[in-house]
Amino acid sequence: MKCVHAKKKISQYVDDALRPDEKKDFESHIRSCTSCGEILEETRTIHRLFASARKFSAPYGFAGRVLANVEEKEGARLRSLRPRALFLRAAQVALALVVMTTGIISGNLLLAENGDHMGQRAVRKTFSLDLFQAAPPDSMGGIYATLMRPSHER
Ligand SMILES: [Zn+2]
Repeated sequence: MKCVHAKKKISQYVDDALRPDEKKDFESHIRSCTSCGEILEETRTIHRLFASARKFSAPYGFAGRVLANVEEKEGARLRSLRPRALFLRAAQVALALVVMTTGIISGNLLLAENGDHMGQRAVRKTFSLDLFQAAPPDSMGGIYATLMRPSHER
């Protein structure tokens, strides 16, 4: 097996998704190739990090509260831009969710490494969502309802 082929199979190997014969060829290449061996180790480390990152469900009404918060800040400006406003708002919410999810995952990675329970509690408290106002459930329907609502003034 050549490096080009071995490199394409590293992820599948880590996921144990190779056929037995492919696996055998791959392993024999790895034993004799330092470069591919290093990439394999890096890939394994990344897989382990993601596997150890704990998953959290968003609390009840989370998406709705994010939307309400975004609209509260941007609403006046966006309302004058319909229908582009709907797309912009959806994009902002998607971005906010990605940023928050990434933050939660990396925060947990850091905390898991330190095993710092007090710190963990402090961080969770900082990220507490009680600061958002109450709003509908974070279902797609809830998001849609929030998007379609003409306004939520304070
Ligand atoms: Zn190689």
